[in-house]
Amino acid sequence: MGTGDTCETLEEEKVFEFQDKRGLLTLGWIHTHPTQSCFMSSLDLHTHSAYQCMLPEAIAVVCAPLATPALGIFRLTDPPGLNLIMACRRRETFHPHPDVDGGIYTGGFGAEDQGYGHVRMREGQGVEVVDLRKR
Ligand SMILES: [Zn+2]
Ligand SMILES: [Zn+2]
Repeated sequence: MGTGDTCETLEEEKVFEFQDKRGLLTLGWIHTHPTQSCFMSSLDLHTHSAYQCMLPEAIAVVCAPLATPALGIFRLTDPPGLNLIMACRRRETFHPHPDVDGGIYTGGFGAEDQGYGHVRMREGQGVEVVDLRKR
């Protein structure tokens, strides 16, 4: 569920049950930026840190249909991005993070050497999406 600039996950227990029955694991998360460009907001970085500290390979996919590029795959740098975000105690939904050597996160569209080298987007190979709300 989301607003123009935030999103939250609802009924996660259904996702866990679905995964459990099929032996699947969460590799990351995906959300849209309906009106903004394709980047990781401070809220996104905090959300993603929870995924990446559970699974180092975790990725965040951002779809920004009105922007170019319209799709990005992102990860926190580790070090220093993951620890910096985990240690950040700012409470505002959107807040600045310091510039650090190596950057807080990496990624983008198409570049396989930008920090998510274990992710490949192959021409003609789709992604299966299962809508859990209709069960
Ligand atoms: Zn976002
Ligand atoms: Zn922060």
